[in-house]
Amino acid sequence: MKTLWTPWRMEHVLGTAARSRGCLFEPPGDKPFAGEQLLLYRDRLTVVLLNRFPYANGHLLVAPRRHLADITELADRENSALMAMLQHCCAILRRRLRPDGINIGLNLGETAGAGTPDHLHFHVVPRWEGDHNFMTVVADIRTIPQHIRHTFELLLPDFQELLKAENDHE
Ligand SMILES: [Zn+2]
Repeated sequence: MKTLWTPWRMEHVLGTAARSRGCLFEPPGDKPFAGEQLLLYRDRLTVVLLNRFPYANGHLLVAPRRHLADITELADRENSALMAMLQHCCAILRRRLRPDGINIGLNLGETAGAGTPDHLHFHVVPRWEGDHNFMTVVADIRTIPQHIRHTFELLLPDFQELLKAENDHE
């Protein structure tokens, strides 16, 4: 079975039409979560969004709060926070969506497939046995928004728990 991990394909296939003004990873305001922007989590250092153009159900985007393009620009505390957030994302996805595996990837630069090359972001993509047919399964693009909304509601409580733990810690 050939398994090809190409989350960037969806960014090309669907384009960026729905992208709002400003940076995707900096939703306006200060709220720690926001349904309209599919913002699941935001604290001082990290941001987690549900990808509006998912390669698989539960496709998360994990970014530093700071607008920076390259991995070499990350400060130590951002490195730690991002790695910890990737761990949390894996735990939450496993708990709620029961994937068989998870891909974590970083596309640096447009040539490498980054749809938003000027703000570094990790892709966290849950995988299921046989999911290489995902594109066929969701060929009816109109069904996706509802699907995404449902997944957002499913995952949000876990991220709110995380935020509470983070706030208690401070
Ligand atoms: Zn940004």
